[in-house]
Amino acid sequence: MTPLKYLAGYPQAVQEQVRRLHARGELGDYLQRRYPQRHPIQSDRALHAYIGGLKQTYLRNAPAIDKTLYDSKLDVIGKALGLHTAISRVHGGRLVAKKEIRIAAVFRETAPEFLRMIAVHELAHLKEPAHDKAFYRLCTHMEPDYHQLEFDLRVYLCWRALPAPA
Ligand SMILES: [Zn+2]
Repeated sequence: MTPLKYLAGYPQAVQEQVRRLHARGELGDYLQRRYPQRHPIQSDRALHAYIGGLKQTYLRNAPAIDKTLYDSKLDVIGKALGLHTAISRVHGGRLVAKKEIRIAAVFRETAPEFLRMIAVHELAHLKEPAHDKAFYRLCTHMEPDYHQLEFDLRVYLCWRALPAPA
């Protein structure tokens, strides 16, 4: 059986449980019950303000973010859930590093909890580049429920990618 792409790092038993729920047609209900809302943050400008607000609250001393946008070309998992880029541009003869946060466009239509989770993830990368202990400590500092949310987000992405149960 091929591993569930978005849960590949989780134990086989967990993947089996998700498959069983899906086969019974219950995965969508599970997600809908837990995450019934949709957030209102639709434009890049609103996204920039939203993430800036979180940064102001939790990571005031991290480098400033120059640009924030929803990116429809971003492969969610290809870049480990988001894309955190420092782009170097020649600016007036000097090389200036610009901090950009790109959020995969799929997050435009998700529950507020998932947008917050991905925002926290990307913000943590301003200080911690690797997915290590220090990184996850920062994530849970900003969002105590971070690990559960990341897991449920991965389940949600699986559910979107799976064909409808027969
Ligand atoms: Zn990451």
